[in-house]
Amino acid sequence: MLAYAVLEEGESTGGVIYARSAIAARREGANEYADGDFSYVTCHRAPWADAYHGKALDVGLMILHGWHFECSGCGGRIDEDMLDEKQIEPDDVIGHQHSAAYCDARCEAGAALEKAQAEHVQKRWLRRFAKIVKRRFPDAVPELKHAYAILRDGRHVIEQVTVSFDFPGRQHWPAELTWRRRRDYAGGYRRRAPQPHASNKPTWQCASGDREAFEAYAAATKVQPQEQPL
Ligand SMILES: [Zn+2]
Repeated sequence: MLAYAVLEEGESTGGVIYARSAIAARREGANEYADGDFSYVTCHRAPWADAYHGKALDVGLMILHGWHFECSGCGGRIDEDMLDEKQIEPDDVIGHQHSAAYCDARCEAGAALEKAQAEHVQKRWLRRFAKIVKRRFPDAVPELKHAYAILRDGRHVIEQVTVSFDFPGRQHWPAELTWRRRRDYAGGYRRRAPQPHASNKPTWQCASGDREAFEAYAAATKVQPQEQPL
């Protein structure tokens, strides 16, 4: 098997592909990078990579042969100039051509820390929502379904939380307590005038076909007046 550098021409994205012939490599590359369009890819021999057939091809080595990558940590471009500038050895670059790439161990650690912080915030909100469900429906078993936190101005803020729970007579999918940060802006322009009185509280949701069953469940599990009404 020989190594070929196959590139999609428009975006110059691609990779090293191992094949028995240039035609075979080009066909595989076209499928991978150009939706099967043979004429959109270029294919050149990459003898420097021959020895890595069946092994991980390190990003650091590829950079020395003219490739560049985007760091999954800092988002910067990893190429030979960057390595020179930041005095990073090619061996210190983390990743191979089919994995995430990082400038070095610091960028990888930074990304891991950021992910852990986001998960911490997400878990805290999921537990909070599970508690709200338990307060309103004490016999329910909340499932921590989905939460999404993003980094904003240096700290993680919650954007979306959804906890789901089953209820008697349910035919379709479980009910949910869900919340999403309201946005006045979407895609950079104002889509909808902000509604000053619209609340942005968590909402209870169920399948429309289950509405009666859910309302009956809510009525059967009486709430104190100061608690959140359905
Ligand atoms: Zn980086």
